[in-house]
Amino acid sequence: MILFPTDDPPGPSTTLYVGRVVIDIDADQVFTVRQEAGRAIDVCAALGASATTPAHAGNSWRDAGVMLDHVGIQCADLSRSSAFYDAVLAPLGASRLMDFEVAIGYGVPPHPDFWIGVFDSGEGFRESHLAFTAASRDVVREFFDAAVSNGAEVLHEPRVWPEYHEHYFGAFVRDPDGNNVEAVCHVPGGETG
Ligand SMILES: [Zn+2]
Repeated sequence: MILFPTDDPPGPSTTLYVGRVVIDIDADQVFTVRQEAGRAIDVCAALGASATTPAHAGNSWRDAGVMLDHVGIQCADLSRSSAFYDAVLAPLGASRLMDFEVAIGYGVPPHPDFWIGVFDSGEGFRESHLAFTAASRDVVREFFDAAVSNGAEVLHEPRVWPEYHEHYFGAFVRDPDGNNVEAVCHVPGGETG
């Protein structure tokens, strides 16, 4: 799947640590996923794709059991916080990848998985935003239906969000504490995952 298509030349190799999963990305954008305690696996081979499939053009680490797609927090002073995160995330290889003025998405290209935004909602607390990865649009709908049947407040019904990218399909609900929880599928078409 194409997440955020780019013609940029491959960057230097990168290692990501996501929970107990370690992800190595080489200069050709080939992803290798391994568990902290376990045998290394080649994620492309595990997914039946060519080992030389560019990660951003085929299945990616998000399909390899990685649950979180992105998270977001609210800030009392967005310009102060963005200056802070500009500085502290640069050594990690992350930078501003999207900027909507009221919300800024940081990440190691191509995926903005850490967001900061203006403090604009939440009674007595600052709601957090959690987005979970869905393998298909049907999974997004199942997530949404499960939330509704559990009495969750609906924020946004499942739909495409072209302002993020053309294949972004997400649904948003509130959890029992009032947090904004999303399921998102990035697969083009996405109907069969
Ligand atoms: Zn989101």
